[in-house]
Amino acid sequence: MDVTEKLIQGQNLTREDYVQLIHQSTDPLAVRRLREAAVAIRRSYYGDKVYIRGLIEFSNYCKNNCYYCGIRRDNLNAHRYRLTKEEILDCCRQGYALGFRTFVLQGGEDPHFTDERMADIIRSIKEAHPDCALTLSIGEQSYDSYRQFREAGADRYLLRHETADSTHYRRLHPPEMSLEHRKQCLLQLKQLGFQTGAGFMVGSPGQQPEDLAKDLLFLKELNPHMVGIGPFIPHHNTPFAGEPAGSVELTVYLLSLIRILLPRVLLPATTALGTLDPEGREKGLAAGANVIMPNLSPIKNRKQYDLYDNKICTGEEAAECLGSLEQRVQRAGYRLVMERGDAILLS
Ligand code: SAH
Repeated sequence: MDVTEKLIQGQNLTREDYVQLIHQSTDPLAVRRLREAAVAIRRSYYGDKVYIRGLIEFSNYCKNNCYYCGIRRDNLNAHRYRLTKEEILDCCRQGYALGFRTFVLQGGEDPHFTDERMADIIRSIKEAHPDCALTLSIGEQSYDSYRQFREAGADRYLLRHETADSTHYRRLHPPEMSLEHRKQCLLQLKQLGFQTGAGFMVGSPGQQPEDLAKDLLFLKELNPHMVGIGPFIPHHNTPFAGEPAGSVELTVYLLSLIRILLPRVLLPATTALGTLDPEGREKGLAAGANVIMPNLSPIKNRKQYDLYDNKICTGEEAAECLGSLEQRVQRAGYRLVMERGDAILLS
């Protein structure tokens, strides 16, 4: 049987099957068939709902040195900032007034935010907004730290695995980091009861179709609640400054594959996709994505959370422009909803 049909029918695919599927990303018929299947699946579980999450980028200090990332330790040109607890709570307050019911605290791995400080911030947010979900995205931490965050009230955690091939992982990260540890963190997060998100960059330097096949196999096995994928975009002050960006088309195609692979997954149309293509996020929704994460960070700091070049942050994707975002989502045939939108896992 054709691999496209095999995927749609929910059969287990081999790595070779996935490689073949990746190669079909340039075949308009296969792309269309998979997109239609993905959209039908998304519709059957979520109707026309698109969930929104308020993204608060609370620190760009980072002790890590990932080769692709603009806020890596060795980028001495980065203008570093961190928000105070009050500023973070202000972002939540403003977001709440706009209707947000999920807040995502994302940042570099910043030692200033000790477990105690994080737990205090988490408790304060949950106390002020008990009806909201709180997501963390602050990288690799110890089991004990994750446990403290969870006990303080954090509900969800985003930690992209970045690539599921260990050789490719080493190409993207310095020697002190490892795929093994990243995977271990993801398992621990699930164990602790976080709704957990994994994911990867599309078109990162050296990525082969075999690597993407491994990413899809890994996602199937991990069965996360959320998956974040976006195209790699070079940043001028990183070792990958001269590398080409990933492809919007391939990213969108992979969104369809992931929707079919993990039917109920919460799948954002990411900022990176919107950065490379002004219609990128609409294309993501039209391929099976069902989440958008507008920027809720203080406007004065937005430019500083500079992961890659030309990152959009003050246009229609921003939280204060919810009205125009709503219109865009509607024009694409969907409906922006304000509910928490917790993920339901099929085991
Ligand atoms: N420190 C946290 C958050 C990282 S930023 C962590 O380690 O999880 C969130 C995501 O942005 C990363 O997981 C990565 O996939 C993505 N990212 C970083 N640099 C990028 C780049 N140059 N192009 C595209 N995406 C990038």
